Amino acid sequence: ALTEAEYIWMNGELVPWGDARVHVLTHGLHYGTGVLEGTRVYATPDGPAVFRLDDHIDRLYRSAHIMRMRLPYGKEQLRQASLELVRSNGHQACYLRHLANVGYGAMGIDPRANPIDVMVASWEWGAYLGEEAVQRGVRLMVSSWRRNDANVVPPVAKATGPYLNSVLAKLEALEAGFDEAVLLSGTGMVSECSGENIFVVVDGTLITPPVNAGALQGITQSTVFTLAAELGLPVRVDNLVRSDLYTADEVFLSGTAAELTPVRSIDHREVGEPGPITRQLMGLFDDVVHGRSPLSEKWLTRVS
Ligand code: PMP
Repeated sequence: ALTEAEYIWMNGELVPWGDARVHVLTHGLHYGTGVLEGTRVYATPDGPAVFRLDDHIDRLYRSAHIMRMRLPYGKEQLRQASLELVRSNGHQACYLRHLANVGYGAMGIDPRANPIDVMVASWEWGAYLGEEAVQRGVRLMVSSWRRNDANVVPPVAKATGPYLNSVLAKLEALEAGFDEAVLLSGTGMVSECSGENIFVVVDGTLITPPVNAGALQGITQSTVFTLAAELGLPVRVDNLVRSDLYTADEVFLSGTAAELTPVRSIDHREVGEPGPITRQLMGLFDDVVHGRSPLSEKWLTRVS
């Protein structure tokens, strides 16, 4: 269950958690017309700090641009709102959820007459796929569902409605006894998991699928690119088919909530215990987000 915090920032003010409500005829509730972000705040030697805040806010606005939603707040206002919320809730570490949602007004598909509600919530959230997943890796299933196609709903827009695709795949995987689903594109290329990007390691090279296979441009994925460069590991953005997952030396997932999570098996094909490259990247990631690396500086925004 969710650990409630004291406040949620909603439409320009901090409101008590339980009072952050919308009307039942909110457009986004009926048609999935919203854009969202997930960002983490970490404890550092200088107090709590938001990891890659500007990149997350930028992506929120890019998603809104694709959906033709004009947010009633500027980027700087949302940055300040995020910091104020973390301070007011007294978190040392937490997850931040930004949501801009087409609100209550006209009904019907046309969203143009409706206001846009904007909120930022925070709560304390541990390992997204569980502690055991971090230690031992997750068991993946290749979903029977295909990833949203770029000409159906663009997967690069982090919008609420398209998460139905993720929910279908996640439920199928969990009910079949797996931990997480990996989805293929319409043409059978590996895209990503229900809430994470995927990487394979082959002969010391990292490979992750491109946007045109239906992958989100993950901010954690881009962090991994930098960490790999730091460790002298080559990275390629390239298409993968499902058997590439079966034969990889190592497989891991990247996402804000999941951070770096090793993969133990795919469709019952063992990859094995988390491998040396995955472990190295996880260690460096942990140092970077907690302010213990020279790389930390450019990515952390202190809360106070
Ligand atoms: N793919 C999907 C479908 C996601 O929901 C997420 C989480 N935002 C990611 C990838 C990873 O993106 P990021 O590293 O920016 O959190």
